[in-house]
Amino acid sequence: MPVVAAGVRGFLFDMDGVLYRGARPLPGSRTLLAALARRGVPFALVTNNSTRTPRQYVRHLARMGMRVPEDRIVTSAALTAAYLRARLRPGARVLLIGEPAFRRTLERAGFRVGWERPAAVVVGLDRRLTYRKLAAAATALLDGAAFVAANPDPLLPTARGVIPGTGAAVAALQYATGRRPLVMGKPGPRLLREGMRRIGTRPKETVMVGDQIATDIVAARAAGVRAILVESGLAAARGGPRRPAPDLVVRDLRALWRWARPRL
Ligand SMILES: [Mg+2]
Repeated sequence: MPVVAAGVRGFLFDMDGVLYRGARPLPGSRTLLAALARRGVPFALVTNNSTRTPRQYVRHLARMGMRVPEDRIVTSAALTAAYLRARLRPGARVLLIGEPAFRRTLERAGFRVGWERPAAVVVGLDRRLTYRKLAAAATALLDGAAFVAANPDPLLPTARGVIPGTGAAVAALQYATGRRPLVMGKPGPRLLREGMRRIGTRPKETVMVGDQIATDIVAARAAGVRAILVESGLAAARGGPRRPAPDLVVRDLRALWRWARPRL
């Protein structure tokens, strides 16, 4: 195996396809997180998903036997809210294409969520998106509202097959208006940088563990952190892209722990 672990001080994990799939923990995930916590090795969980708040993730993980503090969970929605807080005035109106968890996250950050003359258009996954809302978002963008996308995911795997992801709604608005969004989630580096800020590690000391080359491994490269691909997710089965190559490929988190243990 290649030597990627000398000097590893912290881990970033993707969640779905790495720690669990749906509501089922994947092999080794509970043992690994508990062992890292016991040894004081910091880790954060980073996800493009905008349909659960960090608090909801804490509960979701707890039901599967994984205990993770809320401040170690970075979602694309929470990152979007933090970004807007640094740039818009308090109480500014935001037009949200997104679900209730995203709305709550923006409201908790002090924004009003509504349609009239918004300062920003924010796009996350919205499984009830209407043409009327898409039209209002396009109008706001043409009037100069800021344009922020939680992630550019084209598709989303579900138990019944794939559905159009956040990126599909983003692309519709981009095509209609000629505006380009600022993208918060993977494959960009922002989520990973926020994860590192939370655990206090620098890129060279950090390993990103993901199941998708096109999002997790590309994001790791963009953030300058080391990258481990776990084959327990969907990417391997579906024959996605093979580049950029991760530093290490492991079958599951049991194998990752066998590899990491002597190096920490
Ligand atoms: Mg994944």
